Amino acid sequence: MDCIFCKIIAGEIPSSKVYEDEHVLAFKDINPQAPVHVLVIPKTHIESVDKLDATNADIAAKVLAAVPAVARQSGLTEGYRVITNVGKHGCQSVFHLHFHVLGGKQLPAEMS
Ligand code: 5GP
Ligand code: ZN
Repeated sequence: MDCIFCKIIAGEIPSSKVYEDEHVLAFKDINPQAPVHVLVIPKTHIESVDKLDATNADIAAKVLAAVPAVARQSGLTEGYRVITNVGKHGCQSVFHLHFHVLGGKQLPAEMS
């Protein structure tokens, strides 16, 4: 399977690791949109939130449960934003489920 994030999990593509456990990996985004921009992903390949159901929702729960540790590790004491893009209209560009954790400054309130 030709998935960049699966290659990062396998260590075939280097990444700047922020957090790792049995089920989850978090690493710095290569093109940061904020002073802190970390991607939190499951080690199991799931395309996006749109592919979640009762049989695999536990994987997404483990990814979200790792977010507070990622935030602590990244010094996000004043808050942060968690975003996941889905499909074409959501501007998803990597089709392996990931949550963007953004912070390190006051983020704008509006969505574009
Ligand atoms: P999406 O657009 O799918 O929501 O987010 C994909 C994110 O992955 C983008 O923010 C992009 O900068 C990041 N990205 C793409 N390729 C790589 C890579 O090889 N390494 C890292 N660290 N981030 C990547
Ligand atoms: Zn993958």
